Amino acid sequence: MTTDTQSQPITDALQTKCKSCGGIMQYSPKDENLKCLYCGLISELDKSAAEQKGNDFKHWKKLADEESNDGLMEATEIKCRQCGATTTMPPNTSGAKCAFCSTPLILDEAHVKRFWQPEYLLPFKITEKQSGENFKKWLGKKWFTPSKLKKYGVNTDAFKGVYLPFWTYDAKTHTLYVGERGEDRKVQSRNSKGELVERTVTDWYKTSGTVNLDFKDIVIPASESLPPTIINRLTNWDMMNSVSYQKEFLSGFVTEIYKRDFRDGVDDAKKKMKSVITDTIKADIGGDDQRIKTQSTQYNDLMFKLLLLPVWISAFNFDGKLYQFVVNGRTGQVIGEYPKDKMKILLVVVAVIAVIAALFFLLR
Ligand SMILES: [Zn+2]
Ligand SMILES: [Zn+2]
Repeated sequence: MTTDTQSQPITDALQTKCKSCGGIMQYSPKDENLKCLYCGLISELDKSAAEQKGNDFKHWKKLADEESNDGLMEATEIKCRQCGATTTMPPNTSGAKCAFCSTPLILDEAHVKRFWQPEYLLPFKITEKQSGENFKKWLGKKWFTPSKLKKYGVNTDAFKGVYLPFWTYDAKTHTLYVGERGEDRKVQSRNSKGELVERTVTDWYKTSGTVNLDFKDIVIPASESLPPTIINRLTNWDMMNSVSYQKEFLSGFVTEIYKRDFRDGVDDAKKKMKSVITDTIKADIGGDDQRIKTQSTQYNDLMFKLLLLPVWISAFNFDGKLYQFVVNGRTGQVIGEYPKDKMKILLVVVAVIAVIAALFFLLR
C-alpha cells in the first residue's frame, strides 16, 4: 500500500512557531497542550473526545488491492538500519537516534512515502520525569532482581516519547454452530471389595444454534519494533478519550509508521473475536461440558481505524545485556524485561517444594 516516490528534501511538518516569540512549540504532557520551549506560552489544543467513525474494510481493501492512493497521506519516513523501525522524521533533524535501539539515523535516507493517515490518537499525559520514577518503583518491587542491582540501581537510556500505530477493528458477527451438551450424573456401583463407589458419567446431547456479537475497538499492533512480550501487553487504553488526529500533538515526539497495513491486521483481529465467540457458544450450549463440532462466522459491517498510542521507550544495561521497557503514556504502567537472579529463583523453588513435601507428610 506504500508507494515509493523519489527522495525529497527533509521538511519538518510538525514544527509550530510561537505566536509571541517565534520559538519552537512542543506538546507538553504536563500541560496537555502546546507549549513554547523558550517563553512558556501555552496554546490550547482541542482535546474533546472524538466521535469515532470507522472505515469500511471491504471498500478500502478493494482500493488498496488496486494500489490506489485514495485515503493516503504523504509522510517523510526514515528507517533504522539496525533494527528496521520506521518512524517519521524527528523534529530535531541533527543527530537523531532511533527511538527503539538508539542507533544514529542516517538522514540522507529519509523518503517521502504515502501512508494511511492516522485518524485518532491518545495524547501523552505522563511526563518523562514520571516515567523515570515509575520505572524505579517498578524495578524496586521485583523479587528476583539480583542483589547488586537492588543495591546500586541501573542507569537507563534517555526516555523517548513515541506514538505507536495500532489498527482497531469493529464487526458485527453472526455465527452458526453445531455441537453437543454434556450433562453429568453420578453412578454408584460396588467394587471388587464390595464397597459402594461413586463415579461421574457424562451424557451427550446434540445441539445447534446461532450467536450474534457486536465487537468494538479490537486493538492490533501495526508495527513490529517492540518485542511481542511487550507490545501484546500494551492493552490498557482509555479509548473513549481518544481525540481526532492533529499533528500538533506529535510535536516533540517520534511517530512510528505502521509496517503491517490494515489488510494484514484483520486476521489477528478475527482470531481475537473468535476466542470470544467460542466462549459465547459454550455458554449458549450450557450444561456441564460442551463440544463444538462446527462453527462458521460471518463478519458484517467490518470497519477499521488507525490509532496512535503514546509510550515512553527506554532500556538499561545489566551485566552486558540490554533490557528494554516501556511506560504507558496515559497510565504510567511499566511493561518490560528485567534481570532475574537464577540463585534467588532456585531458592524459592526449593522452599516451595520443601513446604509441599512437609504438608504431604503431615497430612498422611
Ligand atoms: Zn514563545
Ligand atoms: Zn533502531
